[in-house]
Amino acid sequence: MGFDTPLESNIVPLKESSASLFRPDPWMLCETGFDISDNYQAETLFALGNGTIGLRGTHEEKYLGPSGSTHEGNYLNGFYESEPIDYPESAYGLAQNNQFMLNLPNAKRIELDVGGEPFNLMLGKIHSYERRLDFRTGILERKVHWESPQGKQIIITSERIVCFQRRHVFATRYQITALNFNGQLSLSSAIDMEFTSPIVTDDPRVSAQSSSLCLQFQHSEINPEYAALELRTKVSGFNVISAMSNEAIGWVADSAQTSTPEQTDDSLGIVQNFTGNIGIGETRCLVKYGCYASSRDYPAELLNTHGKFILHQARLSGFDELCREQKQYLAEFWNRSDIEIEGDAALQQGMHFNQFHLLQSVGRDGITNIAAKGLTGEGYEGHYFWDTEIYVLPFFLYSKPEIARQLLLYRFNGLDKARERARQMSHKTGALYPWRTIAGEECSAYFPAGTAQYHINADIAYAVQQYVEVTDDTEFLIRHGAEMVLETARIWMDLGHFSSDGRFCINEVTGPDEYTALVNNNYYTNAMAQQHLQFALSISARLSAEFPEEHLRLVDALGLTEHELDDWARAADHMYLPYDAQLDIHAQDDSFLLKKVWDFEGTPKENYPLLLHYHPLVIYRHQVCKQADLMLAMMLLSDKFTWPEKKNNFDYYEKITTHDSSLSSCIFSIIASEIGYHDKAYAYFMETVRMDLDDTHRNTCHGVHTAAMAGSWMCVTYGFAGMRVIEGLARFNPMLPKQWNHYQFRIQLHGALLEVRVESAQTSYRLLDGEALNLRHSDQEFQLTVQAPLSVHVNQSTL
Ligand code: BGC
Repeated sequence: MGFDTPLESNIVPLKESSASLFRPDPWMLCETGFDISDNYQAETLFALGNGTIGLRGTHEEKYLGPSGSTHEGNYLNGFYESEPIDYPESAYGLAQNNQFMLNLPNAKRIELDVGGEPFNLMLGKIHSYERRLDFRTGILERKVHWESPQGKQIIITSERIVCFQRRHVFATRYQITALNFNGQLSLSSAIDMEFTSPIVTDDPRVSAQSSSLCLQFQHSEINPEYAALELRTKVSGFNVISAMSNEAIGWVADSAQTSTPEQTDDSLGIVQNFTGNIGIGETRCLVKYGCYASSRDYPAELLNTHGKFILHQARLSGFDELCREQKQYLAEFWNRSDIEIEGDAALQQGMHFNQFHLLQSVGRDGITNIAAKGLTGEGYEGHYFWDTEIYVLPFFLYSKPEIARQLLLYRFNGLDKARERARQMSHKTGALYPWRTIAGEECSAYFPAGTAQYHINADIAYAVQQYVEVTDDTEFLIRHGAEMVLETARIWMDLGHFSSDGRFCINEVTGPDEYTALVNNNYYTNAMAQQHLQFALSISARLSAEFPEEHLRLVDALGLTEHELDDWARAADHMYLPYDAQLDIHAQDDSFLLKKVWDFEGTPKENYPLLLHYHPLVIYRHQVCKQADLMLAMMLLSDKFTWPEKKNNFDYYEKITTHDSSLSSCIFSIIASEIGYHDKAYAYFMETVRMDLDDTHRNTCHGVHTAAMAGSWMCVTYGFAGMRVIEGLARFNPMLPKQWNHYQFRIQLHGALLEVRVESAQTSYRLLDGEALNLRHSDQEFQLTVQAPLSVHVNQSTL
């Protein structure tokens, strides 16, 4: 393409966990120097997205640093290629095909040439540099004062947004001011097809797919107002376009292209060049409107027409208007979801950063979901997991319930595939959701920590229950939720059985803790299955009483019998929940407590996470947990455990948990809050809330940890504020961490907006809009109205 090539191609080793790169600012991430060693991580942190498009926070200009310190990434949620999974030793029923999120041509790219000298952060001299991501405007802005090797000084300001209100659009405004010279400037605005792969590593959590092998050239169009490149995946058969519309202010466009994308050569792309003169003190500007869309959104034959229309509209509105829309969208979001923490700016920054990234990552169209790494990297191949229902969904349920609904609709839309999977797994009826997937098929190639995690069915049912109880969305329950819950409930009867002494047992499954696999009676699975069956029965009873016609329709369609319902009731009543009388704790499963405890003292620090240093069998034969398992059951099914039970279990399991999974610390924080271990609650919260900003798991370069991000929200609401919503009634039992002056959060419940503020002397509840709301503070129940806020003084039982 005529651009420079990287200076060298050494692999830079992943850096050690570092202290924060950023000064603590509650509403922004601000980087004040450019440093190659932080570049890879910073690209993840500065990523922008809108749930459809995700752009890693790479610079506009090509990166000239060593390979392995960067990964150019541009993604469309739910756009994937698939390939057969190659098992040298196969077995019946193993997942057949993998699906993986593809990196798309880089339509962000802009190159600047100053009188024959290319601008690049790694050439010349940087007098000042600042890059900031503002969580309230949604704009990523970079300002650089640069001096070329021959002494020309310029200021470059680039602003980038991925529009929340226009799901296929992003835009960049790139401005150059000459400080000490008169001369020529050239800009090249490109859609670049040179794909890089993520850093080469043995980490199984990192994808090694190459887009250049998967995408075939289809069509291109280049004219002064619009340029587009259309490609097609070889196997999954989706078309995708990357398009741009460049508006050069004060420039003269010359011949539009420097390379013809007529062939399928990887290095080809589209470039539009602009040249012109600039004088001292003058500014030139290029606004680039970009679009990504695929045939998962529009019919393939209309993609290009849509791209053109979308970009035409964006251009008509102009960059300032896009920024205004963005700000308006975010103002509304923060108004309904902000968590305010006074007393620790770094934590406040972490919390806002997490909330902002969740909003950027989540699919909201019922056919996409939220990947473990959001849209910020290819870690876990863009797969969706149970992370959605158990970790992420609560955040959206209480701050943007319409998005929670879409996440559940995604599962509803995958119900037929879940039925198919159940048949493959020899279940004659019912549906079994995949452990990891993009489009609904099981993609886990390692069944002991994949398909064996049958709890996915109960997790989804639990999320449906929470959603319906918190939003009162009966229509969703009737049209979608009931069918999902009933169909998935059926699997338990086939999977489990009544033992000779009448207990309902579920064998050969894996619970949430992935350092223990293929066990009998995993406590979490059994307890969640019990909850699932009870919920299925209550749905059936409710529909039959309140919506008999709908009930009949469903019963007919599913062929559900009275006999089945009786079995469900009997299984739920007799569910076996392992308990060890001697230790007075619940056993994680039948064999867990009989295993040897892992030698923690003899394990060097650098051997964590264990999964990268020990064969799974070595790990499986020990008492060692990767993540919260029983703790999670105690959080989700809070009212089924007594306080001493919670404390005993916590004391035991904490000692043998490595937290090698990023999903773990938040749950320990919440239970620690509940049992009064305030220092531990705080420490686990700290571990969670700045996980990506401080790169504590040393893999943020591959993408953010969305479950942990949402977990940090739960630490405050479920943990410090002790919130539990049971049968629709919100209960709070707040405490204030001693490090803080106060904290405050807003949530939506039953269509009303509630603000909870916890200070050292009192907790206040304010209804900001909506009907009256009943809630419970400690053991007292109140009714709140907009006119009558409530303040409960510490140690006082009433107003
Ligand atoms: C965890 C799983 C999780 C997955 C994706 C794994 O490390 O053990 O529970 O679903 O990461 O986040």
